[in-house]
Amino acid sequence: QRDTIRHTDRLGTIGTLAAGVAHELGTPLNVVSGRAGLIASGKLSPEEVISSAQTIKGESERMTAIIRQLLDFARQTPSPHGKIELGEIVSRTCDLMRPLARKSSAELVLESTDRPMEIDGDASQVQQVLTNLISNAIAAMPDGGTVTVSLGSDDEADRVWVDVRDTGVGIGSENLNKVFEPFFTTKDVGEGTGLGLSIAYGIVREHGGDITVDSQPGQGTTFRVRFPRHQ
Ligand code: ADP
Repeated sequence: QRDTIRHTDRLGTIGTLAAGVAHELGTPLNVVSGRAGLIASGKLSPEEVISSAQTIKGESERMTAIIRQLLDFARQTPSPHGKIELGEIVSRTCDLMRPLARKSSAELVLESTDRPMEIDGDASQVQQVLTNLISNAIAAMPDGGTVTVSLGSDDEADRVWVDVRDTGVGIGSENLNKVFEPFFTTKDVGEGTGLGLSIAYGIVREHGGDITVDSQPGQGTTFRVRFPRHQ
């Protein structure tokens, strides 16, 4: 089973996003309010007060994480783009992500290239795209495995690309066209907000590029990010 999806539609309309936010924040808020009500009733044992307070803390942290990611998502205002070297950003991001990979018994391999990979863009935003893809790749390999990051170019189309390939669980065909949607996640509460790929997608589109995904369930997944070459 092999599926490829090219993502071209503009995702994350305000309506979808607002409904998602209401849902995502509504659930933990209900929990916080319920627990606070119990504490305020004065009927809890000291142990129950402590456990309720811990629940409130956990749910608040979850809301903070959602809000932080939303702000990143909303902050997609065009920043001044300059000439940047994709190879350098990729190499720097791999160095930053290696400790996380090691913690999950995953190997992070960079197949670099000597060819120039200049694009127009914002280095920190491009780094964020790669960080999201690599951390997803690591998360997809709970028992360890290999993340391979490679670079290449399509000279006819004047485009350069970076692939992030993993040997993880893969993505079923029923989910392949959903992964870029805001708030789509298969991760447990606290581990994923479902915003990573929609943010990555927004950034790449802003750079005139695109992201494609190719996955074989049980074997692994490859995300390819393509950018127009600097002219
Ligand atoms: P989050 O990581 O918070 O869930 P993302 O938008 O980054 O949000 O990813 C959405 C979903 O896409 C993930 O929950 C997962 O189901 C799927 N996904 C993304 N990357 C991979 C990958 N490399 N391998 C398998 N599934 C993936």
